[in-house]
Amino acid sequence: MHHFHYKGGKLYAEGVSLDALAEEYGTPLYVYSGHTVVEHYKALDHALKPLDHLICYAMKANSTLALLRLLARQGSGFDLVSGGELFRVQQAGGDPGKCTFAGVGKTRAEIEQALRAGIYCFMVESEAELTFINEVATRLRKIAPVALRVNPNVDAKTHSKITTGTYENKFGIAFEEIPALYQRATALKHVTLRGVQMHIGSQITTAAPFAAAVKKMIPLVRELHRRHRLEFFDIGGGIGIVYEDALASGQPDWWKKKGAPLTPAAYAESVVPQLRTLGLKVLVEPGRFMVGNAGVLLSEVLYVKKTGKKNFVIIDAAMNDLIRPAFYDSYHEIVPLRAKTGKTIPSDVVGPICESGDTFAKDRPLQPLKTGDRIAFLSAGAYGFTMASNYNTRPRAAEILVEGTKVKLARKREALVDLIRGETA
Ligand SMILES: *Cc1c(COP(=O)(O)O)cnc(C)c1O
Repeated sequence: MHHFHYKGGKLYAEGVSLDALAEEYGTPLYVYSGHTVVEHYKALDHALKPLDHLICYAMKANSTLALLRLLARQGSGFDLVSGGELFRVQQAGGDPGKCTFAGVGKTRAEIEQALRAGIYCFMVESEAELTFINEVATRLRKIAPVALRVNPNVDAKTHSKITTGTYENKFGIAFEEIPALYQRATALKHVTLRGVQMHIGSQITTAAPFAAAVKKMIPLVRELHRRHRLEFFDIGGGIGIVYEDALASGQPDWWKKKGAPLTPAAYAESVVPQLRTLGLKVLVEPGRFMVGNAGVLLSEVLYVKKTGKKNFVIIDAAMNDLIRPAFYDSYHEIVPLRAKTGKTIPSDVVGPICESGDTFAKDRPLQPLKTGDRIAFLSAGAYGFTMASNYNTRPRAAEILVEGTKVKLARKREALVDLIRGETA
């Protein structure tokens, strides 16, 4: 489900030619399809209709203001992991009263900021943090709404850097310790127990781990609700998206033929019947699902270099623009902005940075590329720009939001002066 497709031999985002955008705004360039984001939100919202629910978009996936505004207009809440993200929500017109605040290391300043803004709930990840939030709230004469993050110890069978729901990793509080901790929390005068949360990992492409985690949690949540009168159960994010067959997945018939990795409907079917029995509001925190397939990264070929048996395609985008291949060994489909014909050859697509890790693809069968050709990395909307850096003193890319034939420069390309702002020589 997305709006990137070829028309007359050129790749389009909705009604706009990507080659034309690259020509006008330069490369590397992130381009987002606004309708794709909104349709993902609506599809999930619809699938969860049988439940009293709130979608809190996990904005660490992509926190560009223009995208946040699209989602805020749909009524979305936001799942935050820093004071900086809260500031962004407010700048984009989002409602702090629909925000959850996650993360194992919230600082005093961030807790104060969130209390003053009136967020919906803190997701607490340790007893030490719970005590600390109570202390900060006492000083501000406020009551902090909290939920404890339960580690259900369920293996989501995903990449080790994005699995979070087992005792091997730093997230959450062990399942067995939860009832006693809720009991101790009742003694803290400046926190109120509002819910329970879990999050088992990311890029989960089957419904089974979600269903298993919810099943394991239900008796615990029911018991906590009975004792403490809760308001919600937050089942986290992690819905996976299509990377391998990204371009083709833009066609509706692809989903019928292939059987989707995980549609919103299949996700909902696996958890809604169990959740309905609780009588609680249900929160979900999808990040990647909402924006992943809605963004592409455009780049231009600088040089082609043949060494021994290798065909290196050196492009103007680098790991500082899109770190996922280096960080998670992840795959992004690569397609030319102007359709090509001819036989593919195994190609290594690499960036200009002085690191062997600055490699987007190895031995990828691609139609021969030459200097000046432009390509797109598909499914780059999530954990793309938000993980971009200035490594090698490279300005960060510009970002464009397309809606129909409307083009908005969502973020200007950084200029050289931006790169030394705040520095003293
Ligand atoms: C990262 C994160 C999410 C979002 O994960 P996705 O895989 O992008 O959906 C949701 N909740 C928490 C607590 C997270 O850390």
